[in-house]
Amino acid sequence: MTGASPTPSRARCRGITQALVAWFRASARDLPWRRTDDPYRIWLSEVMLQQTRVETVVDYYERFTRAYPTVEALARAPEQRVMKLWEGLGYYSRARNLHAAARWVVREGGGAFPTTADDLQALPGVGRYTAGAVASIAFGEPAPILDGNVKRVLARLFAIDDPIDRPATVERLWALAARVVDRDDPGTSNQALMELGALVCTPRNPRCDACPVARRCDARRVARVAELPVRTPRKPVPHHDIVAGVLTRRGRLLFGQRPPGGLLGGLWEFPGGKVEPGESHVEALVRELDEELGIRATIGPLVAAVDHAYSHFRITLHLYRVEDFDGDPTPHTHTALRWLRRADFERYAFPKATLRLLPHALD
Ligand code: SF4
Repeated sequence: MTGASPTPSRARCRGITQALVAWFRASARDLPWRRTDDPYRIWLSEVMLQQTRVETVVDYYERFTRAYPTVEALARAPEQRVMKLWEGLGYYSRARNLHAAARWVVREGGGAFPTTADDLQALPGVGRYTAGAVASIAFGEPAPILDGNVKRVLARLFAIDDPIDRPATVERLWALAARVVDRDDPGTSNQALMELGALVCTPRNPRCDACPVARRCDARRVARVAELPVRTPRKPVPHHDIVAGVLTRRGRLLFGQRPPGGLLGGLWEFPGGKVEPGESHVEALVRELDEELGIRATIGPLVAAVDHAYSHFRITLHLYRVEDFDGDPTPHTHTALRWLRRADFERYAFPKATLRLLPHALD
């Protein structure tokens, strides 16, 4: 079957939906956000689950809902506190959007969420997927959902061999997702699709023998499960070496706050930056500390180095001790600078790579 294949019949889609819903009702994992119909909690879980594993999200969700049990409580929270609770989950724009969306809901809706997928997309950070998930699970709207898991499941179920990252294929997958939504219980059928993708129809080694829709799966029928879905070949992910310095003053370490809006916006980091072609680490760090803080630094030994992957590039962050410096550090590129004691770390949010380096910096 190719991109020009006919739309599957209603009867076939209904059979798939019924099998999925029955399977989900019998064997769904008991997750905290599945015990509520509160749109705030469902929305929060959906935002946390983007790009993040369920096992990781459970703890964050419990802590977050304890700190902010309602959308009003989240709207009132200071941003740094929200970022601190998010620390380690990554993709920090999600946390900033979450906070902005909570304020929007309180300001525009008096604390009530919009109830349709279309209206939910007015919230900061809420795209078509999250809107569909919240509208179907919390409000019973038969709105489709399509994330990476669901794309994979549908591409296999209907043996779609067009690259699933192509806009035309994505639109086709949205149309298929709409056809398999259960009109009577859209929240359950959507969650069943996600659950199937997470537990059974996994990227590698899908468990077709345990699959509730195996009998109805085109990829299985034509023995093409391992080949699907197809993606446009990716360009290699660029790698950057980043150097940063530990400046110490009376037992405190110096951190700079990244400007809001950009990558890791609002988080606190050791000052430093990218190593340019032809530069040694020490040359790069001396230059960066001059540009960022206006100081002339003497660089000491390497403290530690960590690798970290972002969505479109990878870095190795090399942390050096700064033995001495001339000048008074002033924020040229950061929003603010702070000298922090170990006890202060609780109140500040750091990028994951920085968090991994903190214990070494304190030695
Ligand atoms: S039969 Fe296999 S490939 Fe088809 S939906 Fe089930 S797990 Fe996925």
